[in-house]
Amino acid sequence: MSLENVAVVLSRPKLSENIGTAARAAANMGLGRLIVVQPFRLEEEIMMAAATRAGQELIRTLTVFDDFDQALAGFHFVVGTTARRGSKRGPFHTPRQAAPGLIQAARENRVALVFGAERSGLTTDELRRCQTVVCIPTASASTSSLNLAQAVLVLGYELLLARNQAPPERLEYKPAPVSELQDMYDHFQRTMVRIGFLPEDNTEHWLMSFKRLFNRTGLTHGDCNLVRGMCRQIDWAVDHGRPTHSNEDEP
Ligand code: SAH
Repeated sequence: MSLENVAVVLSRPKLSENIGTAARAAANMGLGRLIVVQPFRLEEEIMMAAATRAGQELIRTLTVFDDFDQALAGFHFVVGTTARRGSKRGPFHTPRQAAPGLIQAARENRVALVFGAERSGLTTDELRRCQTVVCIPTASASTSSLNLAQAVLVLGYELLLARNQAPPERLEYKPAPVSELQDMYDHFQRTMVRIGFLPEDNTEHWLMSFKRLFNRTGLTHGDCNLVRGMCRQIDWAVDHGRPTHSNEDEP
């Protein structure tokens, strides 16, 4: 099994050189695709930095998006990476902990490894859109920030090792694409606010507990429909009053 189904997504990278070296690192480890969201600029040195033929091929087939969510819409698993630990940004996994599950998922699904901008990294909001958050351990908190391409290399390396260790088993379910999950969470959030279960301010924070729960099990297309069906019924009950079931036939 190759890592063709695993893509590297760079969000708002500033330096073309970093895009090139990230492409080289991704190619070194056999990752299949490179996507860039809102690059600051794409200059000539990108090709020089990509250096190898395989790295340059990833640059040639690079896809550029204006929108973070759109870039991730077609993926089934999204992994965010961060050097910055914060109580609202985790739970955190090391690349080694995350790798076996990702290899299993990548067997038949599309997996995105998302990396942030050189200085600011991924925002908390962007990390909340990821199903897993990976933080590469470093010697101390003050030295936690790796260069972008080095971070790509470490993740790719761990995936390569995990892939070589054992043939991955099939996932027991077919995960819903991320765009469908996002629509479901949006609907769930609106409905839960309507009935006062989630507070109107800072809903994202409270929604995180549900995302953690759902991420532990993984959701299929049918699961998303189930949650949305439940929300539609609650919306209906809020608008029309509590529905009464006819029990005329019951004794
Ligand atoms: N202070 C930034 C560092 C940005 S470095 C932050 O919040 O992460 C650019 C990118 O490289 C980060 O957004 C992340 O995607 C990746 N990266 C750097 N160091 C990392 C680490 N220790 N673990 C995981 N990813 C890391």
